[in-house]
Amino acid sequence: MSYIKGTIEEIRKAMDEKKVTSEELVNESLKLAHTYEKEYNAFVTICDDAKEENNVKDNPLKGIPCAIKDNISTKGVLTTASSNILKNYIPFYDATVVTKLKEAGAISIGKTTLDELAMGGTGTAAHTGIVKNPWDKNRLIGGSSAGSAAAVSLGIVPFALGSDTGDSIRKPAAYGGIVGYKPTYGLISRYGLFPFACSLDHIGCFTRSVKDVAYVLDCLKGKDEKDMTSLDTKTNFINELTNDVKGKKVFYIKEMLDRNNYKDDYDEELEEILNNFDEAMKKCKELGMEVEEVSFDIKLLEAIFPTYFTISCAEATSNNSNLTGIIFGPRGEGKTVEEIMFDARTKGFSELIKRRFVLGSYILQKENQEKLFLNAGRIRRLIVNKMNELFKKYDAMILPAQGAVAPTFRSEDIDKLSNRYLLLENHMAIGNFGGFPSITIPCGFVNKMPIGLSITGAVKKDIDVLNIAYAIEEKYPYKGQIAKEVK
Ligand code: GLN
Repeated sequence: MSYIKGTIEEIRKAMDEKKVTSEELVNESLKLAHTYEKEYNAFVTICDDAKEENNVKDNPLKGIPCAIKDNISTKGVLTTASSNILKNYIPFYDATVVTKLKEAGAISIGKTTLDELAMGGTGTAAHTGIVKNPWDKNRLIGGSSAGSAAAVSLGIVPFALGSDTGDSIRKPAAYGGIVGYKPTYGLISRYGLFPFACSLDHIGCFTRSVKDVAYVLDCLKGKDEKDMTSLDTKTNFINELTNDVKGKKVFYIKEMLDRNNYKDDYDEELEEILNNFDEAMKKCKELGMEVEEVSFDIKLLEAIFPTYFTISCAEATSNNSNLTGIIFGPRGEGKTVEEIMFDARTKGFSELIKRRFVLGSYILQKENQEKLFLNAGRIRRLIVNKMNELFKKYDAMILPAQGAVAPTFRSEDIDKLSNRYLLLENHMAIGNFGGFPSITIPCGFVNKMPIGLSITGAVKKDIDVLNIAYAIEEKYPYKGQIAKEVK
């Protein structure tokens, strides 16, 4: 019997009952990682010598294999952020989350592929190639935490770490039929995460059940003196998890669900996604929750993507200015420091990254800062203020996690700036704007591909978000699911 494809909860039980050992689990996990690697490209590095650290205290994650996104620093283990500019970089320190996993006895079996430097949403922009969707190899799994999503969806590991700046955990989780969670900003330390856009960056996780998120969060949560933006919490997430959500108030945004807003690109797929959402709202009511429709200024909703892009490109340009090929990565050629840096950065970054840095530099130029960067900050504030106002009355916002199923690799399938794209494909960045806790859980299938439900709550109310997700999860048969192609 294979235990590795179970949830953390199931694996824990099997280990406690001495049905399986950690060594057996690690071996199974490594074997699967190698079996699927050629086809799916989930890993940059597979750690064949993975084993438990010494002196581990008793912990629910003890002995359980996991995977870590390759933009999270691991001491002595290659960490490339899927970029050529870091292709040889071996860090000399562990990120706080990695230290915490080691202390808990969880065992990382590998570093997962991402869109280069976490900039992207497709899983097609790593220096080692594209990551495929385990439900259909002709489709992408989404990004940027593509390899982590694929590894969990394939059943290689029961959980994996990712990072989320706009939706990089939650979108690939939805495309992969699994659970994706990003916490309140700061609840998990970012020390050792390569920054993309630090005011929006979060570390979070992929699992195959909501309860498993609570296990991982209990391990990773809390104040870290190495990250001054980190937060303490008294919540014990496993103990406080309950599926009694009677009386909880949730809302969805009217303009997002209004079929009239998608006249130009309405199709059967969208119809099914929206119908699925109506069904989900019925289930919420059956659980005793109050569901209300709320109106949001459509101009603000349409501004989410440009605002996100403006802020994230500007911050990314500044954050990544240390990647010169001098301290990290392959050294460039040239006679002066400028020439060496120019050569390293020209060769080290792909076109996509360069495009974002060009935009970022333009946005940050002295004469543009006020009109572009600071204005984007003001719009972000308007959106966050509106959300905070709504969270005074409601416990959570629920929306479809996507406006389409995982696209095929033919990019013309994606009509970039349509309403469908602007409203339904990008709203999860609201969670990053305000640092709101946010989760996606599987809620059905459209065209045989999984789709997800997005649940977002007020800052520091992670437990409310998890409880609502936990209760809704019970209403569906998808807990613990693994991709169809590999079952
Ligand atoms: N898809 C978004 C982008 O391309 C989000 C990336 C992320 O969250 N890291 O920037």
